[in-house]
Amino acid sequence: MKAMVLDTIVKLEENPEPLHLSQVEDPFPSECEVLIRVSACGVCHTELDEIEGRTPPSRFTMVLGHQVVGRIAGLGTHAKHFKVGDRIGVAWIFSACGKCKFCRAGNENLCTDFRGTGRDANGGYAEFMTVREDFCYPIPEQFSDAEAAPLLCAGAIGYRSLRLSNISGGQILGLTGFGASAHLVLKMVRHRHPDVAIFVFARSDKERAFALELGAAWAGDTTDSPPHLLDAIIDTTPAWKPGVEALKNLEPGGRLVINAIRKEERDKDALLSLDYPTHLWLEKEIKSVANVTRRDVSEFLQLAAQMRIKPEVEEFALGDANRALIQLKAAKIRGAKVIRL
Ligand SMILES: [Zn+2]
Ligand SMILES: [Zn+2]
Repeated sequence: MKAMVLDTIVKLEENPEPLHLSQVEDPFPSECEVLIRVSACGVCHTELDEIEGRTPPSRFTMVLGHQVVGRIAGLGTHAKHFKVGDRIGVAWIFSACGKCKFCRAGNENLCTDFRGTGRDANGGYAEFMTVREDFCYPIPEQFSDAEAAPLLCAGAIGYRSLRLSNISGGQILGLTGFGASAHLVLKMVRHRHPDVAIFVFARSDKERAFALELGAAWAGDTTDSPPHLLDAIIDTTPAWKPGVEALKNLEPGGRLVINAIRKEERDKDALLSLDYPTHLWLEKEIKSVANVTRRDVSEFLQLAAQMRIKPEVEEFALGDANRALIQLKAAKIRGAKVIRL
């Protein structure tokens, strides 16, 4: 089969073509796995973190991609939940042990044996992939393959970050960074909590205009002062400064939810500007969002179907994956990027 593979960690500034289109052996499903013929795979910021080594693949070569939509093309001998031809999705959670205290409590996202799709096992930048059947999700029929793909990561993790924000009616929610996940969170909040005002902090004019178009009450640059303090802010940026700025803009008791798998090193000195009374005093909280559980993915897909969410997607051919990644890195974002097979 054809796949875009990563051979080693690279710096994207030095090598803008980290993935290579290769011919690799077709995968074969083991007992409880299914074989999927991939039709769409979302492009995520986590791929940049993998390529540049902030959350490196656990082996090479690796096929990246963890927002996978396709049809069942084969079944392992013990696989029985699906039949050949069923349309399913695969998300960031490739597997977890199922036995540890975290798994037993429903926090499989915290499992020490958590395996990420496209990081610890081959993912969806390929014509086929295999995965355990109990880590697949039926895709609601109203979504096209390309529309469903970004829901599987950006949407599901956005849903988790929104839950962790504890936002409720009449409050103000901030979003700092306005990529694929944040724009879905905005749509979720508009639907679920129409009386929650949303303030968006984003670097580019385009992102700010897009946020206002989608119903944000206010949009400004990352360092702008908003007209009110906020009850919670979800930070989806790879940098430190937006988080520090966000803490300053929180109400007493407010919560900063950091929805980023890793932060980049280059602006870490922004943390030296942390001033205890300005940024942390009065019971402000900081919480990270780690991975995603199957429950988050399933619940979000149902919610997205009820809400008739239509993600804005931009499609790329498999061989064009590098171009999609470079654009993502440069924050040329309007909605989500999806590889079409
Ligand atoms: Zn992702
Ligand atoms: Zn576990």
